[in-house]
Amino acid sequence: MSRDPQAIWLRDVVARAGAGDAAEFARKYELKPYRIAQIYRAAAKELIGDVREVTTLPKELRAAFAADGVTLSSLGLEVFQESSDGQTTKALFRLQGGKEVEAVLMEHRGGRTTLCISSQAGCAFACAFCSTGQAGFSRNLTAGEIFDQALFLARWLASRGKRVTNVVFMGMGEPFHNYAAVMDAVALLNDPHGFGLGHRHITISTVGIVDKIDAFADEHLQVNLAISLHAPTDELRSKLMPINRRFPLAELMAACERYVAKTNRKIFFEYVMLDGVNDDAACARSLAKLMRGHLYHVNLIPYNSTPDAAFAATPEAKIWKFAAILDEAGVPVTVRQNMGRDIAAACGQLRAETQPKAHALS
Ligand code: SAH
Repeated sequence: MSRDPQAIWLRDVVARAGAGDAAEFARKYELKPYRIAQIYRAAAKELIGDVREVTTLPKELRAAFAADGVTLSSLGLEVFQESSDGQTTKALFRLQGGKEVEAVLMEHRGGRTTLCISSQAGCAFACAFCSTGQAGFSRNLTAGEIFDQALFLARWLASRGKRVTNVVFMGMGEPFHNYAAVMDAVALLNDPHGFGLGHRHITISTVGIVDKIDAFADEHLQVNLAISLHAPTDELRSKLMPINRRFPLAELMAACERYVAKTNRKIFFEYVMLDGVNDDAACARSLAKLMRGHLYHVNLIPYNSTPDAAFAATPEAKIWKFAAILDEAGVPVTVRQNMGRDIAAACGQLRAETQPKAHALS
């Protein structure tokens, strides 16, 4: 299926201005196709956030857009926080209608930057250890709302001479529960005439929705797939991740095998280390058995604890022991570097902090 990034982007701009459809919008402002291309390029490639600053457009048109609420971004900034080491930046955005989502930017040594973005306000999957999951589902984001998180933080990086080198769908929400908008957002991120980020620099992370893993394989994109596994047995995984009752491990792993067979692409498995829950040697051995012999890579994630969390983080030495068991079994494994702890940078944590009531009610 072909996705026209400019058309996707314009659809969102027009919808939030309440200006009918793209054709009506073009008629109302007498926009020739090259004008629309100029506006799109200004936002997606030149990273201009304010329509009044798009100097390629006539002054009157800019003024009319500004007066009518035609904007280049769907997001209002609520909170902007930098970690004390300057490597992690977190933004909490207000969407049209008032819901909030967050994005996190990590600046690694050597110039690589990773931007973690949200695909939904809230999440319907209720993983036991995740702040977003505890607060419930609010709504899907549009492709534009997903893309605008990247534009916002790309503008901030550009002001310091840097750019976004990697995007991961590991913020709030389940990307495969908002499949079409996420694929459209991928098209926006990738567009060579716009944002221009290579597919290989994008990662989608899922709780493991089997039919969507199959659909994603059929897209034949070079986009990376990450599966949030977190447990090597059905009994434990169902306790941590309710989705496991719908798609148990045998079905999930079969879908992963189909994906690799179809795409010949490696799958990343995320495994959050919860003290005394999923981090003993027996778990490591079961995990190694599940992984061995496939094009799979395990990423162990140090748990980011919250004051009211029912879980604690596995001590670092134990994480390395767990990793060693996988390594000895021949399973590729890495331990995720922990960044931004002082600004609550794990999934959903900033929103939870600023919304204590909503959090307590859920
Ligand atoms: N719904 C998708 C994407 C969002 S979560 C998914 O589950 O994959 C991205 C990753 O962050 C998941 O692996 C999730 O389990 C992990 N995560 C959530 N809360 C966390 C926490 N407090 N500390 C560490 N990792 C966390």
